Amino acid sequence: MNPIFANIPTTIFEVMSGLARETGAVNLGQGFPDDPGPEDVRRKAADAVLNGYNQYPPMMGLPELRGAIAAHYKRWQGVDLDPTSEVMVTSGATEALAGAILALVEPGDEVVLFEPMYDAYLPLVRLAGGIPKFVTLQPPHFRLTEEALAKAFSPKTKAVLFNNPLNPTATIFSPEDLALLADFCRRYDAIVISDEVWEHVVFDGRRHQTVLGLPGMRDRSVKIGSAGKIFSLTGWKVGFVCAAPHLMKVLAKAHQFLTFTTAPNLQTAVAYGLGKDDGYFETMRRDFTRSRDRFTAGLKTLGFDVIPSQGTYFLNIDIAPLGETDDVAFCRRLVTDFGVAAIPVSAFYAEGAVKNVVRFCFAKKDETLDAGLERLAKVA
Ligand code: PMP
Ligand code: GLN
Repeated sequence: MNPIFANIPTTIFEVMSGLARETGAVNLGQGFPDDPGPEDVRRKAADAVLNGYNQYPPMMGLPELRGAIAAHYKRWQGVDLDPTSEVMVTSGATEALAGAILALVEPGDEVVLFEPMYDAYLPLVRLAGGIPKFVTLQPPHFRLTEEALAKAFSPKTKAVLFNNPLNPTATIFSPEDLALLADFCRRYDAIVISDEVWEHVVFDGRRHQTVLGLPGMRDRSVKIGSAGKIFSLTGWKVGFVCAAPHLMKVLAKAHQFLTFTTAPNLQTAVAYGLGKDDGYFETMRRDFTRSRDRFTAGLKTLGFDVIPSQGTYFLNIDIAPLGETDDVAFCRRLVTDFGVAAIPVSAFYAEGAVKNVVRFCFAKKDETLDAGLERLAKVA
């Protein structure tokens, strides 16, 4: 077996959801909403299944979806994309990440990673033979600093893996952070693989800024998105990649042998959904904001130390004030003894640098959040 896989555990999301299923715990761990997703979008997919959208679609994605992705990002982020040379559909953001890393990173290339990082990044970098260079972001603000970037970048830097809004910290990088990142990428001639799957889940009047729109970054950025997050349909696994034609040509080579295509019935439904009016997106943000505020208030009333959530449908608590020093042990006890599944944030660090933060998903019905809080009352 490839030692990269032999030596890594099953992803924490599967472990925690498995434990929640076994124990009947309230699952606030793995990130998925219990909202069924917009009915019209689901109906489009059902109609497409019945009406014959079931054979291999074009490798790069259905033209109608590629066009809808370009139009969506023009409308929301002001970027001009040519749908035929700069947009590709993948089987989830996960495939897009895998393809981008495998296609762009050569053995011996250095790749800058920001900790905490989504758990797929590091194994994929290692699989490509890349050498990870970590920047550890510090709570509570998780800002980029000139000193930290200067230590991580070198003439061997090929790529940077960036995630904004950031899962798991639920923070959004500031315009100054983005300018600093762009400055380093330009200076070291590095490509940024930008995981922007949470682009629409931003709170308190914030607006997402894509790396594609930053000065000098248009030709050195790979922007990744996911319909799973935009429509609360995480199981659909329809992802988008946007990049300049010279990068896209290489990304397409990886895509053709990873999955080749993505279910066309889902693609056509996503194309329809991307054209939804502003009201849909406003309602989504308003509903998630309400759940965030309800769960935050509940946790605070119980005495938990809540790290505020600016985006994504996660929030974190600091368990150090509870006298806890091991987030994994704490989460195991939480699920088995108290009936609540959560995610230990050390899973997002290469060497478990932080062990006192626990992540909850609040994209749940009020009853589910309240049931979770009732159980958590016994812990605090
Ligand atoms: N990147 C991040 C930061 C995520 O949070 C997720 C899933 N929640 C993904 C990638 C994977 O997205 P998909 O389900 O579209 O593969
Ligand atoms: N992205 C989701 C999360 O952060 C989980 C995705 C997965 O299960 N791999 O919870």
